Amino acid sequence: MMPQVCARCDKTTSTPVVVAIEHGASLGGRTLYACPGCAPTFPKQRDPFEQCLPDRPSRKTAS
Ligand SMILES: [Zn+2]
Repeated sequence: MMPQVCARCDKTTSTPVVVAIEHGASLGGRTLYACPGCAPTFPKQRDPFEQCLPDRPSRKTAS
């Protein structure tokens, strides 16, 4: 496998881990790599909890 630059720490790694694959018709697709140390810090693709977890309350607290 070709060495890739980690998308997190910008260091070249000889054992890149694919952390994201973006499919874009106009962009032609893009693959993000990370070194093994940084890979766990990336969110998984198609995370089933992504849309379930409340990010922030949409209602503001009245002050
Ligand atoms: Zn890294």
